[in-house]
Amino acid sequence: QQFSSIGWRFDTSYTQLPAPFHVRESATRARDPHLVIFNHALAEQLGLNSAALTDTAAAQLFSGNQVPEGARPLAQAYAGHQFGGFSMLGDGRALLLGEHITPQGTRVDIQLKGSGVTPYSRRGDGRAALGPMLREYIISEAMHALGIPTTRSLAVVTTGEPVYRETPLPGAVLTRVAASHIRVGTFQYAYVLEDPVALKALADYTIQRHYPEAALADNPYLAFLNAVCAAQAALVAKWMQVGFIHGVMNTDNMAISGETIDYGPCAFMDRYAPATVFSSIDRQGRYAYSNQPPIAQWNLARFAETLLPLLHEDKAIAIRLAESAVYAYPEQYQQSWLAGMRRKLGLLDEAEDDAALVEDLLTCMQNHGMDFTNSFRRLSIEQTLPNADAADVQNWLKRWQQRVRRQTATPEDVSTSMRAANPAVIARNHQVEAALDAATDHGDLGPLHQLLAVLAKPFEETPENLAYRSPAPPSDEVYQTFC
Ligand code: AMP
Ligand code: MG
Ligand code: MG
Repeated sequence: QQFSSIGWRFDTSYTQLPAPFHVRESATRARDPHLVIFNHALAEQLGLNSAALTDTAAAQLFSGNQVPEGARPLAQAYAGHQFGGFSMLGDGRALLLGEHITPQGTRVDIQLKGSGVTPYSRRGDGRAALGPMLREYIISEAMHALGIPTTRSLAVVTTGEPVYRETPLPGAVLTRVAASHIRVGTFQYAYVLEDPVALKALADYTIQRHYPEAALADNPYLAFLNAVCAAQAALVAKWMQVGFIHGVMNTDNMAISGETIDYGPCAFMDRYAPATVFSSIDRQGRYAYSNQPPIAQWNLARFAETLLPLLHEDKAIAIRLAESAVYAYPEQYQQSWLAGMRRKLGLLDEAEDDAALVEDLLTCMQNHGMDFTNSFRRLSIEQTLPNADAADVQNWLKRWQQRVRRQTATPEDVSTSMRAANPAVIARNHQVEAALDAATDHGDLGPLHQLLAVLAKPFEETPENLAYRSPAPPSDEVYQTFC
């Protein structure tokens, strides 16, 4: 009644896959669930009538206590390389409620994260703490507003029960919306089953769901592999252009759909420094800012390996095809990256030395420790940079001005392009931490709502976002993030 009237339309095709890919599971009952935040704009896009949903009903629904009509909750099996080491994994603290069909006919996964133990929990408690779930909510919504493919966040509820990390923390459940949760690691899982029927079923399913045009190619699995490589190249290029550091690019955290997934100790870089690492668990810097493009290629090589049995019956030929796809990635990445950097610099046509112009700007930014976001924004608005009296910066600005004038585009076109490519606000670590602290330590959701409102409109300067455009004062700088 109250629940079906909100407009769910579940149609969970994932259960058509063979048994080892999923297991029916239900959420652990939350003792005293309370709604913390609900994404009304997203709910509307999904065709959900949130007006029909009281806070109490929402808390029951998004804690997993009340299963919506048509949903058949399940945990998904997957494997993955975590910091280079292979493990069998699976949803250890998440449940797929099902696939919801939006009014536009789009199929999206609705997943509860933090909903209790599953057969894949290993030694984990199946739980999530409020801070990290709100952090995922903030960053995923910020990425969406920046135009970067990402999972979305529909709601966070507290469970009324503590979770024990170093200290007791309030338990919470995040409701995540994704094109799907099929990962590189899902294919790794299928591959190690050594069950050709299961592998083919997963590949055919994923092609139909995400890359239907690949089914029409001479070799659908090669077309699929190429498409996944291109999607990742485009995605990681977008991350690099806003200074985003994912932090845990394990193969189980790379979605085949091309969406950014699984926000843990991720962060945006302030001062430009290619070796930046924020994640407390990334001690070797494997997932440092500048390592992200080659790590994506490493992950894609792991993905390509899983498709070998499908690429060709002759293994030598299959390997050659897989290599051709994975070796094409650096060029795909470079092209995606350069296209985006041209937009950031207001270069609306192409010149041969554009890549060098971009590289030299980044060197200047590194030499002077410039703020990544604010430097590009200042270039867009004032056509200058911080440290403009330094010889290298002055010299670069002259080259850039000459390059910009050489094109036929008007100064207005240039400025419009740059303002649309260079955000005025990103989710700065100290602001994120402040909003999380207020919410988790004091139950004060004001700073969280303010931050989310600002991050929803990243490409404009407003009086509301003024305070959010400054880098952290030295006393507030965040060097480490935790998941
Ligand atoms: P992540 O680092 O969040 O990508 O998670 C890696 C794997 O560990 C996944 O299989 C998760 O389901 C599992 N996992 C993470 N935290 C927990 C937890 N608290 N309880 C059970 N499993 C977990
Ligand atoms: Mg994960
Ligand atoms: Mg995680």
